[in-house]
Order: sequence, then structure tokens, then C-alpha cells
Amino acid sequence: MKKVIYIDELPVEVTRKRIKRMNIRVKDPDGKVIVSAPYIMTDGYIISFVRSRRDWIDKNISRVKERSSAHPAPSTPAEKEKRRASLKRRIAERLPAIEQWTGLHCTGWSVRDMHTRWGSCNTTTCHINLSLMLATRTDEELDYVILHELVHTLVPNHGGSFYELMDRFMPDWKQIRKNLKY
Ligand SMILES: [Zn+2]
Repeated sequence: MKKVIYIDELPVEVTRKRIKRMNIRVKDPDGKVIVSAPYIMTDGYIISFVRSRRDWIDKNISRVKERSSAHPAPSTPAEKEKRRASLKRRIAERLPAIEQWTGLHCTGWSVRDMHTRWGSCNTTTCHINLSLMLATRTDEELDYVILHELVHTLVPNHGGSFYELMDRFMPDWKQIRKNLKY
């Protein structure tokens, strides 16, 4: 019984087993997060457990990925700057269009060198951060992350109304999200 649940944009592979206590690990070398849980444990409990360990998880994903040969060493600063500039151009082009057709607006946005998530939204200031990792993703995937964060300007959590809006604005968002494995 294996399934993937998304907890604050983080894909977590949950397997139910005949065990007494939940355990969580970050797999080498891809940084996949794996939770083994007893059969009786609810998803809600697993979600709050993962949230409580989020700092530890993020730290370990970074560590595993840095070490991994599957992910080449960070490029030179010059290459990185080039990637950042080109991503910024794409965002500057696409974000206003998405704001227009959704009616959702952020107060500003930044590209950040984040390795464990594609984007984040400060739901108080409505400022959006987008990961530099998006530089190598398709326009469709970039749009999905932008939309996801824009929806957070209205709905801070991932409750029912969040997904209703995602369905309305991007009916195939689940398919796109599947491609955005870490
Ligand atoms: Zn989110």
C-alpha cells in the first residue's frame, strides 16, 4: 500500500506497514521522502508529523542532493546568473498573464535558490518566491507553480477551496504536478 501525498508542495511517499511506530527517511540519492506508518494511522496524523519534521527533512534533502552524483555540482556563478536572468524574463512574461486570467495578484516576486520547493508564498504580504530550479522546467510547469502560489494569496492552506480554484484555473494541474518530481 504505497501512495504519494503532497504536504506543503513536498511529495511524500507513504507506505503502510505492520509496524508500531511511524518512521521517516530521506532516500539517497534522489532525496525522496519516505514515510512508513502503521495501518491504523490517519493521513491527518502523518501530515502533522511530517510538518513537525519539515526543517529536518529539508536539511536532509539538501545534504543528500549535494552529495549525489546524479545531480551535478552547482554550476559556476556566471552560469547561475544567466539561468536566473532567463527565468526572470520568463516569469515577467507569464505571471502578469496568469494574474489577468485568474484575477489573483501578488504584491511582488523573487527568484530564490531554493532546492526543496518550487515556490512559496508569504500569505501576509502576498509576495511570491519562485525556485531557480524552475529555469530548467517547461512553461507549463512554470505556469503551474506560479498559479499554485497565486492561489495562496487567496487561500493560505491546501484545503478544499484551494483545490477548487486549481481545478477551475488549470483543470490538468494534477498531471503537471506529477512531472515536477524533485
Ligand atoms: Zn502550496
